[in-house]
Amino acid sequence: MAHTAELSARLARFRRVLELSRVLNLTLDLPALLDLIVKAAREITTTEASSILLTDPKTGELYFEAATGTKSEEVKRVVVPPQSLAGWVAREGKVEVIDDVSRDPRFSRVADEQSGFRTRALIAVPLQLKGRTLGVLEVVNREDDTPFNQEDVDVLRSLAAQAAVAIANARLFQQSDLISEMVHELRTPLTSIVAYSELLTRTDIKPDQQRAFVETVLQEATRLTAMINDFLDLARLQSGRARMAYEPVDICALLRDCISVMMPQVHQKNISLHFEMPADMPLVHGDRGRLKQVLMNLLGNAVKYTGSNGHVHTAVLPANTSVQVSVQDTGRGIPERDLPHIFEKFYRVQDSEGWATGTGLGLSIVKEIVEAHGGQIDVESRVGAGTTFTLKLPTVRPS
Ligand code: ADP
Repeated sequence: MAHTAELSARLARFRRVLELSRVLNLTLDLPALLDLIVKAAREITTTEASSILLTDPKTGELYFEAATGTKSEEVKRVVVPPQSLAGWVAREGKVEVIDDVSRDPRFSRVADEQSGFRTRALIAVPLQLKGRTLGVLEVVNREDDTPFNQEDVDVLRSLAAQAAVAIANARLFQQSDLISEMVHELRTPLTSIVAYSELLTRTDIKPDQQRAFVETVLQEATRLTAMINDFLDLARLQSGRARMAYEPVDICALLRDCISVMMPQVHQKNISLHFEMPADMPLVHGDRGRLKQVLMNLLGNAVKYTGSNGHVHTAVLPANTSVQVSVQDTGRGIPERDLPHIFEKFYRVQDSEGWATGTGLGLSIVKEIVEAHGGQIDVESRVGAGTTFTLKLPTVRPS
């Protein structure tokens, strides 16, 4: 009899996992989904708390992204060290059941310290999809304080398998949002290419008109190509598929290279360009090609948005464990209302068009690269007076 009762309780529990999994698969909003997963995990294991750690696709770091309980906000974004228990589970792709965390040297107290919660026992399962680990799902302390059993592990594993699929789907959905935005942006240049090409088929237009139309078509087609390239680059950076090849980089030498590439445009606009670089600057921990892309973009914008006879000033300074690079211009400046948005993709200040062509993706790419390096970018600007972009990039740590 006891056996039958046990069996039906077990069946009911797995049925509940199935029910919850169905709900997860219907949720495409990532934060809402993660919240559902931790609640479901807690329910099926009758535990006091549950949390999800995700692997940052860019840095590979494991951090808390969702947790049950009122203190969930406190643990959010807390990074756990790679040698921690969760780090081990993510790396090995194996389940860990710990009945007394105080006896496990791998257990990291960072989340407990932030939330005021006290972890005694836990199960940590990897969130895996097609052999890739997306993160770790944890449940903590059985409500009745009994040790975890095999069935707890089994139900949690089933839930984790479904949760991984749902997380991947929600991420894909976010990407498709990016794609629809892109398609929308591509329409403008495409529409003018089609319109001008149609005009060109008419027999009653004069040769000088014809030439002007061809030039517009060429210009718009060039812009379209730039947008596609920039967009693909941004998508690659955002998804973490762009791997950085880190090495010690001499940022002063790199800046000098970038300036010499810019010189023809600088001369053409009769801009005076100065640079200030002290000797013996520490090396930056970075991807040389990507950092060049950042500097070229900032210098390019400074020259692009500064009128003839203006000034551009670049400086490199040591700053604690980082190096600070600033690019200052005496150009048109950025209105205060636009300033908070200029790093958003496709964002261009309303009247930029009259000044220069662009995709509105340059600064989004710059920000992605700088942040992937663990750096920071800031901007200050006044309309009519000019703009200063300031970068902070981490230096190579002494071994
Ligand atoms: P774009 O391709 O339009 O230059 P970015 O992402 O590089 O795109 O820059 C976004 C917007 O920020 C630009 O359209 C421009 O309005 C503004 N901006 C960027 N740099 C400067 C600068 N140095 N001076 C004035 N405005 C700038």
